[in-house]
Amino acid sequence: MIKKFIQKILGKQNAAHAATDFGKRVEIPASVHGIDPSLVDDRALNVVRTLQDAGYEAYVVGGAVRDLLLGLRPKDFDVATDATPEEVKALFRRAFIIGRRFRIVHVVYGRGREHEVIEVSTFRAHLDNRAAEQVKGNERTSKSELAGMKHAVDSSGRVLRDNVWGPQDEDATRRDFTVNAMYYDPESQYLVDYHGGMKDATQKVLRMIGDPVARYREDPVRIIRAVRFAAKLNPLGFKLENKTAKPLATMLSLLADVPQSRLFDEMLKLLQTGHALASIEQLQKLGLHKGIYPLLDVVVERADTAFVKAALLDTDRRVGEGKPVAPSFLLACVLWADVKLGWDQRLAKKTPPFPALQEAIDEVFDARIGDVSGRGKLAADMREIWMMQPRFDKRIGSTPFSLVEQARFRAGFDFLRLRAEVSEVEVSLADWWQEFSTADDAAREDLIQLVKAEKSPASAGGTPKSRRAPRRRKPSGQSADGEA
Ligand code: ATP
Ligand code: MG
Repeated sequence: MIKKFIQKILGKQNAAHAATDFGKRVEIPASVHGIDPSLVDDRALNVVRTLQDAGYEAYVVGGAVRDLLLGLRPKDFDVATDATPEEVKALFRRAFIIGRRFRIVHVVYGRGREHEVIEVSTFRAHLDNRAAEQVKGNERTSKSELAGMKHAVDSSGRVLRDNVWGPQDEDATRRDFTVNAMYYDPESQYLVDYHGGMKDATQKVLRMIGDPVARYREDPVRIIRAVRFAAKLNPLGFKLENKTAKPLATMLSLLADVPQSRLFDEMLKLLQTGHALASIEQLQKLGLHKGIYPLLDVVVERADTAFVKAALLDTDRRVGEGKPVAPSFLLACVLWADVKLGWDQRLAKKTPPFPALQEAIDEVFDARIGDVSGRGKLAADMREIWMMQPRFDKRIGSTPFSLVEQARFRAGFDFLRLRAEVSEVEVSLADWWQEFSTADDAAREDLIQLVKAEKSPASAGGTPKSRRAPRRRKPSGQSADGEA
């Protein structure tokens, strides 16, 4: 009914719809798709159940279904429903409508670090750009009529096209890859597929729904998503289908119109979801090594340098182990070469070390980070990691005691550890800090005495206060996991 209403108001838009293939609904039973229901998160199951019990349609959707089908445990669960955000919100105690351009509901379970968010989105209508323009240009469509259609309208009456609700087949069609456009009902265990996603998953093909050129034009960020999924699924044998891969490089210039903040976020997804090195490999293979986002160009350029490579490997390893990663840490690694260069140049001109480092950092921020709004915290964290590095050389007096108490000590130490790994500083320096950070106060004093003895063996009289091994507060080998 809603679809008919939309079509009536859109008039000529029928032509645009007729040109789009919404696919045919195919329901695949558990005996065929073989999804292990125990891999479905209990909270996602609860969201689906609650919605279905209230009389709505509800499914697990998108990447989670793809991963379930491939036997992987999804890292997060999205649910799609025909309930509007307000209707969803009304059913849960802790549910929040978020987003403007793309309104969804976050249903929150648990508290603190352990909390889990299930994202619930309402089925979207498939409006291509042409259709959206028609809605905008249709003078007979008043604001109240649009509101009545459940369209979200901004203050100028512009339809935010991603908030136009529609039937499931249209929702499927506006998704990106066939393997990302399936719906799974954990109750009946049926898989709903409109675009041959199941077949593509079996044949290990990453295929854009519809005409890839049109889909990249519609949302150029899909170019970056193609790289991300190619990297993520490559180890399982997936390949980008030819028609999907071919236009990627030639359409790269479209990314110039995408807001910088969105590109930045997509860059982080390439680098921080456990497939950083594989993503860089794909970027190079697909001819996308330059031109997505200036900072990403730098990452790709430097991916083969020992330090950046170590940082990327470390990031992939941590994500693989379920540990948190922070963008500030990786970006501090990537831009360290610039900071060091600027710092050395200033030291050569006899600028004192700390102001020299500070100036070098300012210069790097101006040149490389640019104006990505809301990055204040990120920049502050990067600065702190860098500014801590010369302080690691000061292992006497009260400096070490105050340094280990700093909130970002772990990040700064991890950075030092990587520098040691590539022989930029002595491994023994990183080891010393590892010991120091986990030792009790007495053992810390001993460690400081050891440094003094090493520096001037004669004047130290050969024997520090005690020769015993420093007592440890925590077991050694506990790696620095402080990045949050
Ligand atoms: P991941 O496992 O990395 O989270 P994902 O497929 O779940 O991968 P999300 O970014 O979480 O990716 O998006 C969820 C789903 O929303 C996708 O599977 C896809 O169906 C749809 N989607 C997201 N972004 C786009 C886009 N730019 N164009 C079309 N569909 C998209
Ligand atoms: Mg996802």
